[in-house]
Amino acid sequence: MRYFPQDLKLKVGILGAGQLGWMMILEGRKYPFNYFVLGNKDDPARKVADRFFTNEEYKKMIDESDVVTFEFEHVLNEALLYAEEKGKLLPRYNSVELKIERHKEKEFYKMKNFPTPRFFVANDGKEALEILRKEFNNYGVIKRSIGGYDGKGQYFIKNDVERFNSIKEMKEKFVVEEFVEFDYEASIIATSNGKEVKCFDPTYNYNEKGILIYNYGPLENKIVSEKMKEIAKKLAKELNYIGTFAIEFFVKGNEVLINEFAPRVHNTGHFTLDAAYVSQFEQHIRAITNLELAEAKILKPSGMVNILGINKIPEEVLKYGKMYWYGKEEVRKRRKMGHLNVVGDSIDEVKMKIEKIMKIIYKDELYELL
Ligand code: AMP
Repeated sequence: MRYFPQDLKLKVGILGAGQLGWMMILEGRKYPFNYFVLGNKDDPARKVADRFFTNEEYKKMIDESDVVTFEFEHVLNEALLYAEEKGKLLPRYNSVELKIERHKEKEFYKMKNFPTPRFFVANDGKEALEILRKEFNNYGVIKRSIGGYDGKGQYFIKNDVERFNSIKEMKEKFVVEEFVEFDYEASIIATSNGKEVKCFDPTYNYNEKGILIYNYGPLENKIVSEKMKEIAKKLAKELNYIGTFAIEFFVKGNEVLINEFAPRVHNTGHFTLDAAYVSQFEQHIRAITNLELAEAKILKPSGMVNILGINKIPEEVLKYGKMYWYGKEEVRKRRKMGHLNVVGDSIDEVKMKIEKIMKIIYKDELYELL
């Protein structure tokens, strides 16, 4: 038995210092832990961490931490490996490994019988285009195996294959998959502490050009929700997972297909900060420090709108939502600058508020902004 606070003066090292680390620390402040972050000078989490380390200092940070986690899987790989070698990394490297090369993640789903879109692995661009023609009649998605996330390195091809001729020259691995004609996209956020898995109710997600714009929930279809929860539990078990994670799905009728999973707290789980009994961030901190998990109970219909690529928002948005401004110095196209959480008494009310916020922030120019 450990006692508050004397037995819980743990030092938690976080690899990466973006907005996910920032929220992890803000939420984790309720516990008597110290938070270290590894990242760049202007990163949001630096402002709220107890100590900041540069990438070059990763060994020092890991040596001084009791447990090491990450807020983003595409961080310094040496640091992930070093933390794993020291037995401090949670979730462990086996989960990250699947994300470094996308084809490994897809092959894992296939091997373990998880539902996922039909796919093939190509060794280079030429082969990818051949597979696209032979297996998918030139109607599919080609994704770079390394370095593709938030819609980067992905080619959506709908019979207009001539536009993508340059892929032929690319000497790297690709995943070629069917173009899924889904009804909607959805995701689930869950946390495992190795003994049990607690799942939040899934949400609907709206993506544009491969990046999340807003989401809301809970999903009304109970059959679909239950399937997602079962899949989350199975995934946590297969990976021996510790921490919070997300699984993104394509949904058609009552059928669900895994698009991908994220071995970390996730953009589609930000609503838990305002609409749930415990947030995905606090739950993650509990899991990696071997504390009991809280009930992942959603208290209200809710949603979230991302603020992408702009740093000038009319304050009127505050009428409809709660602002989380990450304080990034530089604004770039598609960069996540902040988000707004909304709650309501019904999903319709949440949707109405999201619509109002979208109009105020993006007017009708979202597509050009991305
Ligand atoms: P990803 O980076 O794999 O999460 O993909 C980003 C977004 O691209 C997804 O959320 C979907 O909106 C879209 N997308 C990815 N793969 C497919 C697919 N096979 N079929 C249809 N849309 C897809």
